[in-house]
Amino acid sequence: MVIHHPRTPLDAVMLKKEREDALYLAGGTEDLRLNGPMGEATELIDINGLVPSTIEKREDGLIKVGALVTLQEMIESDLIPEYFKTACRFCSSFEKRNAATIGGNVGARRDDSYLIAALAAADVSFMSITPHGEELKSVSEYANTHCKRLIEYFLIDPDTKGYVHRFGITANTHAAVIAARVGKRYALSVKGSNLVCGNTPDIYKDVDYKDTLEGSAEYKRYLASTVFTLKEAK
Ligand SMILES: Cc1cc2nc3c(=O)[nH]c(=O)nc-3n(C[C@H](O)[C@H](O)[C@H](O)COP(=O)(O)OP(=O)(O)OC[C@H]3O[C@@H](n4cnc5c(N)ncnc54)[C@H](O)[C@@H]3O)c2cc1C
Repeated sequence: MVIHHPRTPLDAVMLKKEREDALYLAGGTEDLRLNGPMGEATELIDINGLVPSTIEKREDGLIKVGALVTLQEMIESDLIPEYFKTACRFCSSFEKRNAATIGGNVGARRDDSYLIAALAAADVSFMSITPHGEELKSVSEYANTHCKRLIEYFLIDPDTKGYVHRFGITANTHAAVIAARVGKRYALSVKGSNLVCGNTPDIYKDVDYKDTLEGSAEYKRYLASTVFTLKEAK
């Protein structure tokens, strides 16, 4: 296995650009998992120490969350809104939460991502490094792409209110559907499909549902079509 240790964030991005299959290495819980994304020849680019790993309140009131902040650190912080903490707890193993980073979770762009639905519903953006310099990008735009940029930090509004709900057979199996609402914005992560977001619960109609091990297309459509109305009827 080849692991690169670049000296600057830009060096990391350029390495990734030059190597089609290379992966950034943050917490490593996705990269190094059994049957994970690594092939025989996949090279890793260690980004530890290159991007922030702290949670800070900025002068404009937004919370700056470094890409290397772990899910457990988010749960333990007073600055993080409650619905994000709920999303972090979808990773049910304490050991994994202690290593898995917010940047790695978003960077993995999984269709059952613990965090992407909540971040997309909250319309969160992140600062990123590209070969052309720094750029702000929204999580919802990034989620359905294969873009190679390096995530530096996220900007979260601490005053937002919302909820996130997960459907899966157990806490340790992959989610069939994760639904989030923050303010007037909705987002759905559905296993086998692209992320969808919008300003109405009718976004469930925009999902291209697929049969997967987590459930049939019809089952997931039913969950997505009822989750927001049932949640809000309580
Ligand atoms: C048994 C098991 C079950 C799992 N189940 C789930 C699940 O249900 N849902 C889920 O979401 N995850 C799941 N995971 C995967 C993983 O634990 C999480 O996605 C985790 O949050 C990834 O964070 P990490 O820091 O470990 O990322 P890493 O493994 O270090 O990296 C993951 C990916 O993110 C990219 N990346 C990392 N940092 C950045 C960055 N700063 N900028 C851009 N790209 C970056 C890398 O290129 C890589 O492709 C599971 C893992 C295991 C071992």
